[in-house]
Amino acid sequence: SSNNHNKEHLYKILVIGDLGVGKTSIIKRYVHHNYSPNYRATIGVDFALKVLNRDQETVRLQLWDIAGQERFGNMTRVYYREAMGAFIVFDVTRPASFEAVTKWKEDLDSKLTLANGKNVAVVLLANKCDQGREVLTNNGIKMEQFCQENGFVGWYETSAKVRKKGHAHKYKARLVFKRLV
Ligand code: GDP
Ligand code: MG
Repeated sequence: SSNNHNKEHLYKILVIGDLGVGKTSIIKRYVHHNYSPNYRATIGVDFALKVLNRDQETVRLQLWDIAGQERFGNMTRVYYREAMGAFIVFDVTRPASFEAVTKWKEDLDSKLTLANGKNVAVVLLANKCDQGREVLTNNGIKMEQFCQENGFVGWYETSAKVRKKGHAHKYKARLVFKRLV
């Protein structure tokens, strides 16, 4: 760069989880500040770029939005390559999407390791919290414990749809995404 004081970083971050949990919607909310209820399934992989300007540096988050059915194919190994962090998303109204979380984590950890031999940092997102908390309350899951036992660095309740005042503390996209960089 022409400016010696301005450092640039590019980070690849994966957003994975079952079909329909809201991966694309979370990214749209974060990058484009909007939400659309029209369902349009991701095919293969979509990309979005979020630029964060900090004091002396520019951070580019390259968000890889991977179609939910891909875990059943062999392409994830290619998609995961060189990622430095990931979000695994589930839908709080669909228990099966929560059960799939550990399968996504296993798929990721088995196919991607950092140069230092460690697994990448993964944050768990409990999405559609505007719809209730069924999965979080009905089966006695302690999320902190679940995260510890399954190697997540943390979890957040999110809603790509609703940004009510009462929800504000639950959906801090900036904080959530920054957690990985
Ligand atoms: P993806 O397959 O994981 O990318 O899921 P999408 O982002 O395409 O979302 C699937 C459906 O769920 C769409 O109809 C979205 O409008 C809806 N959706 C996504 N996020 C939320 C949310 O936070 N709350 C509600 N109520 N609906 C959501
Ligand atoms: Mg999608």
